[in-house]
This record gives sequence, structure tokens and C-alpha cells, in this order.
Amino acid sequence: MKILLTGVTGQLGWELQRTLMTIGEVIPVGRSVNNPNLQMDLTQLDTIRRTIREVRPDLIINPAAYTAVDKAEKEPELAMAINGIAPGAIAEEAKRLGAAVIHYSTDYVFDGNKNTAYTEQDQPNPQNIYGKTKLAGEQAIASVGVPHLILRTSWVYSLQGKNFLLTMLKLAQEREEIRVVDDQIGAPTWSRMIAEATAQILSQNPQNIYELLVSKGGLYHLTASGQTSWYGFAKTIFELDDRKSDRKLQRLTAITSKEYPTPASRPAYSLLDNQKLSTTFGLILPDWERSLELVMAFNN
Ligand code: NDP
Repeated sequence: MKILLTGVTGQLGWELQRTLMTIGEVIPVGRSVNNPNLQMDLTQLDTIRRTIREVRPDLIINPAAYTAVDKAEKEPELAMAINGIAPGAIAEEAKRLGAAVIHYSTDYVFDGNKNTAYTEQDQPNPQNIYGKTKLAGEQAIASVGVPHLILRTSWVYSLQGKNFLLTMLKLAQEREEIRVVDDQIGAPTWSRMIAEATAQILSQNPQNIYELLVSKGGLYHLTASGQTSWYGFAKTIFELDDRKSDRKLQRLTAITSKEYPTPASRPAYSLLDNQKLSTTFGLILPDWERSLELVMAFNN
């Protein structure tokens, strides 16, 4: 099986590239790939279409996205091109070839006004440009009518790329105090867990992924179990970090979102209910703290 994979320089794409090797032949494409046949800039619909037609994959997996949540407020057209429009073109090309699509989305499609975990039936109501563009991407894929999986995840981190974990570790070497918001609740999710869950779904019928996604495809929530705030996440990072002597940090202070205004507003509560994933595929991701322990053990 040929798998065309975008976003391999990103947190999730990097993990997917390794994990999917057991499932099929992974063909990484991207905007900085040297081979012109594998170049794919998601702002350029012609490169999307040309490359997919060239590679002729059986499955397209698209973790690439415009993920700079605050910057998106100033670059709405660019964010929409990458997150909202490109996924539709990918889905159309997949349909044309008889291929299936796996795409990733975000907890930020919700407004955060609930106080119990969001299910796939809950109405999205994104509060920022990033969330709006990601919702547009979900809708674009669903409307094409290609067999697909859309996996909504949250608070993604890993030991590479730009993420909250690495930001905290860096700031701890530079500052005596770090102030972190304690009134936004979600589930920090290690990118490797998302990649492994994706591979486990595919391994339920590796001979016929198309059929698998015809029968069981659709929208799923896929996050780590448990919940915390950004402050709780930071506190646990520093408890698990063995390199305490390298730190300048003296105080980790819990603050409110009001005390830390950002260009993009974020949902106060964006926990996702993973029941559908568990019922359909028998998959439950580990608690966020267990994953973080593993990641920090690699880092220490
Ligand atoms: P990253 O920001 O780590 O990686 C984004 C990837 O997208 C990079 O490989 C980047 O390539 C690629 N990309 C960006 N713009 C383009 C473009 N114009 N053309 C081609 N490729 C492009 O993302 P994550 O791995 O963290 O996110 C994976 C998925 O999970 C995304 O769908 C995201 O929306 C979703 N998600 C992420 C969350 C998070 O906290 N990060 C939270 C919830 C959901 P390049 O190196 O060329 O820039």
C-alpha cells in the first residue's frame, strides 16, 4: 500500500513517518522536499493535485497544518488556504484515484462553554481563526464524499518542533518566574500516541484500508485520557524534569486567562470525549501523565 504523507517535518508527521512504515510504503511530501515530483505546498492547489496524481497513493494522511494559533489572527487567508481549502483538494484528488484520506483536527473547533467532555455530536463553534479554518477543513473533506477519518486531537507536544513542553523547558533556563494559565482545561497529547493510534486503526484491516474507512470512517475524537490545565501541565513537566540544576526557575505561578491576553481567544474547557473511538476501534490512549513520564524519561 502506498501512503502519501504530508507534514513530516511537524510533530505528528514525524512520528507518523516512523510508525506507518509497518503498514505500507510511506511517501513523504512537503514544501521543502527536493524531488519536484514530491513537492507539495498546501497553499498551491496545483502542486497538491499534481503530486497526488504523480504518486497515485492508496491512502493520503494529512497532518500538515497552519498551527500558529495566535499568528493566524493576522494571517487568516493563509491559515484558511492551508487548513480549510487544501484538505478539500486533497480529498477530491483521493476520490478521483479511489484512495482514502486521514486528516487531523483540533479541540479548538469548540467554544469551551461546556463543562463535560465534547462528543462528535456537539456543535462546533470556534472562537479563533485557527479553529475556524480547521473546521472548514473538516467540512471540506466530509463534503467530498471520500472514505475518510478525521481525528480531532488536542494540546499536541513532543520532543521536537514548537510546543508547550519545549517552551516550558526553555523558559525555565531563562527566567526565575513562569506564569501559566490555570483556567483552560484540556488533555495534553503526545504526538507519538496519535501516530500509534492511527497505525492501530489501520492495522484492523491493513489489506483493505479503503473498505475499513467506508465502513468505520468519519469523525473521531482522539486525545490522551485525563485532563489538566496548562498550569497543571507545566507543574508536572517540572516535577518530572531531572535537569533541575540547569534551571533558573524559582516560581511557577498559576494565573487566569485574563492576566495573559493573547491575540486568539481559546476555549476555557476543551476536553474531548473519546468514547466513539473506544467503542469503534477498541482504542483508549494512556493518561496524559503516563505519556509525559515517558517523554520526560527520554529527555532526562
Ligand atoms: P506542526 O506545526 O508541528 O507541523 C505542521 C506541519 O505542516 C509541518 O510539517 C509544516 O511543514 C507543514 N506545513 C505548514 N504549512 C505548509 C504548507 N503551506 N505546505 C505544506 N506543508 C505545510 O503541527 P502538529 O504536528 O503539531 O499538528 C498535527 C495536526 O494536529 C494538525 O492538523 C494540527 O492542526 C492538529 N492539532 C495540533 C495541535 C497542537 O497543539 N500542535 C492541537 C490540536 C490539533 P514546514 O516544515 O514546511 O513548515
